Amino acid sequence: MLAILVAAGLSTLAVSDLLRHRNATIRAASGILVVLSPLLLSSVFLTALSVSRSLPTAAHAAAHSSGTPRANAAGVVLWLVFDEMDEELAFERRPASVRMPAFDRLRSESIVASDVRQVADRTLRAVPAMTVGRTVLKADPAGRSALMLNFDSSSPAVLWKDVPNVFSEAKRLGRSTAIVGWYHPCCREFGGETACCVSSPHSGGEPPTVWRQYALSLGASALIGAQAVHGLGIALLERSDLLGTLKAQSDVIRSAHAAQVRSLREALLRAVGDPRIDFVYAHLPVPHAPGLGTPSGREPDYLDNLEIADSVLADVRLALEASGRWADAAMLITADHGYRPDLWAAPFASARVTRLLAGTRGGRVPFIVKVPRYSGAVRFDWSLSAIAAHDVVVGMLNGSLKTPDSVLAVLEKLSASGGSRQ
Ligand SMILES: [Zn+2]
Repeated sequence: MLAILVAAGLSTLAVSDLLRHRNATIRAASGILVVLSPLLLSSVFLTALSVSRSLPTAAHAAAHSSGTPRANAAGVVLWLVFDEMDEELAFERRPASVRMPAFDRLRSESIVASDVRQVADRTLRAVPAMTVGRTVLKADPAGRSALMLNFDSSSPAVLWKDVPNVFSEAKRLGRSTAIVGWYHPCCREFGGETACCVSSPHSGGEPPTVWRQYALSLGASALIGAQAVHGLGIALLERSDLLGTLKAQSDVIRSAHAAQVRSLREALLRAVGDPRIDFVYAHLPVPHAPGLGTPSGREPDYLDNLEIADSVLADVRLALEASGRWADAAMLITADHGYRPDLWAAPFASARVTRLLAGTRGGRVPFIVKVPRYSGAVRFDWSLSAIAAHDVVVGMLNGSLKTPDSVLAVLEKLSASGGSRQ
């Protein structure tokens, strides 16, 4: 139990405090722990605490949703969030040897906003902000299934699920929704709004959520004392054998992450292939660290993960084309944040990615809008915040964004207002 508490404490410290340290060893180790926080805790420690439960499949859950399947006259709406996909690295600086044919093709048939700023550099704030269309100043887990959001320093915190969001709007519009979530336990927050919901990649354990980690971390801090936990974390990180141990765990981390990607890809494809579902939201754990795949002669890295993300999009398109739903589909693809060097520290660092990073601005995410029945390439170069995702998705859901001009008008308006409706 002590190991769990210490690990949980270290996890939070890695996220919040250790990144500020100048010491290179600590920076590298803290980078590893940030990666460990969603992965190792879930795969190694949390498994021991978890209560086994089976996940609903999309087909199973849809079959048990209330009412008869709706006619899908408006066309399916998809919102895909690829965690950590970076506009510059994926589409402006990507080496020719790294192939993303599905993304390249879609970008040649869609509205591509090229200067979209990430909402935040951490998933905890970025995903809720995009779902509600407002900048989130602070996000605090309040138990295992509730996230408190602060939009400014003078107003009290409010529950994420109580703020009007894309899921509540979909429900109001009668859209049958599928959520395929990662990191945030979306099913606990929004499961009641949906026909089917999968937010755990593990078949026998708790989702690797910040909620549970944070609750454990708070427990560790309360038990031992925040300063003691902090001091212990520093002492441990300065021991080289801990770094060695963490490196030895990298295969475990990669394996757990690969399982999450597989599981969520399957859940997404089930939802996309179900004609009763007409709004699909998916938050996918690629190209987020660690690198996956089996390249010869080197460790897998961020660019390998971009290719995996591309294969997910290719599968989504194939599934929609096979069911005759591609042409009428409306889709937004974006990311919660861009590439984060601190999370790709050793042992996940890559020489070829390091070379690409020279001179990058950072902090820009893809923003690709597929308009139903339209296949022209349109580029939108005005500066925009990724918060615009909310208004675009809501416009797709309510049918007001069915033409390129209508989408561009919304983007221009949001650009002029800084992207937020506050
Ligand atoms: Zn993220």
